[in-house]
Amino acid sequence: MSDKFRVGILGATGVVGQRFIQLLESHPQFEVTALAASDRSQGKTYAEACTWRLPGEMPDAVRQIAVQAPAPPLECDFVFSSLPGDVAKQTEEEFARAGYPVISNSSPHRMGADVPLLIPEVNPEHIALIDIQRTSRGYDRGFIVTNPNCSAIVVVMALAPLHAEFGVASCVVTTMQALSGAGYPGVASLDATDNVIPFIGGEEEKIEAETLKLLGRLGNGRIEDDRMLVSAQCNRVNVTDGHLAAVRVRLSRPASLDQVRETLASFVSEPQRLKLHSAPAKPIIVRDEADRPQPRLDRDAGKGMSVTVGRIARDKVMDYRLMALGHNTIRGAAGAAILNAELLMARGYL
Ligand code: NAP
Repeated sequence: MSDKFRVGILGATGVVGQRFIQLLESHPQFEVTALAASDRSQGKTYAEACTWRLPGEMPDAVRQIAVQAPAPPLECDFVFSSLPGDVAKQTEEEFARAGYPVISNSSPHRMGADVPLLIPEVNPEHIALIDIQRTSRGYDRGFIVTNPNCSAIVVVMALAPLHAEFGVASCVVTTMQALSGAGYPGVASLDATDNVIPFIGGEEEKIEAETLKLLGRLGNGRIEDDRMLVSAQCNRVNVTDGHLAAVRVRLSRPASLDQVRETLASFVSEPQRLKLHSAPAKPIIVRDEADRPQPRLDRDAGKGMSVTVGRIARDKVMDYRLMALGHNTIRGAAGAAILNAELLMARGYL
């Protein structure tokens, strides 16, 4: 018998669900044993229910797994959730109440006062909220942990080292977000081709709110939001994968351009020290070429888990500006949740 943790995936047939399956194919600690999706897919094998849309073949190990309803009990030790927001809220609570750790990508629980919104490199100490959540909700073994919005994670990975070193007083973000961020089939081709859509429902609010919680301090059993000012504008662009963000920051303490660059380039944190399986050696890769980062060239850096930062320069209105890029379905979704699970395992929460 395998000594790996048995993993269930809720929303297993979707864009993020398929990434989970791909990334977990040869994971040393986790093994996929249960899959769930909508009633369109339930009762079919995964091979019948899922049109595989990632490069390479659907892994053999999941082809014959029967797709079930996303309701406990499932044959697994914990679940990853990539359900649509409206389904995730209640379903994830049901799993947590039934004793399953829920490691979610979906948005409904992210801003819950007792729910860790976790980036292992940025705020690993927020895991302590799990104990408070279990007590306040009467959960026994179960809990809910979330990863941030797929653009917020890219922006906050770049802000966190600068904030720790120099303090970020304010930040203006403009995103250029990939089509896969909208799920499948997502944006209609006639809307996306030859076009930029300057609206992604709820996205600007998520970036502005989640950034403050992610960089907030844990004290007295709650997260006190950071006080920096954040302004975000979001655009959908005709790129398959990879969210790019133009970021301008005003710093609280003076810093030279070399110091800013070095602070980003040398950043390592808890996942690198613990050598977690999915942790990239370099969470932030700084590129000095004038025309990087680019989605097609840089989204797979660090197996999709590194954020690439370039165009670091002084700014005439704010203090500094830079471009940050991350893979939205890996660092922004499935990979982020898997890294969260690896940290939770290392800390004894699974
Ligand atoms: P998607 O491609 O539309 O997939 C949705 C998945 O949920 C499918 O497996 C679908 O199953 C299942 N589902 C839909 N309605 C359901 C219902 N009523 N009951 C049970 N299962 C249901 O979406 P996605 O892009 O993977 O996104 C999934 C979640 O992750 C969303 O909350 C999204 O906001 C979040 N997220 C996405 C990204 C990204 O880059 N795409 C990044 C971060 C977070 P069927 O195939 O059976 O319909």
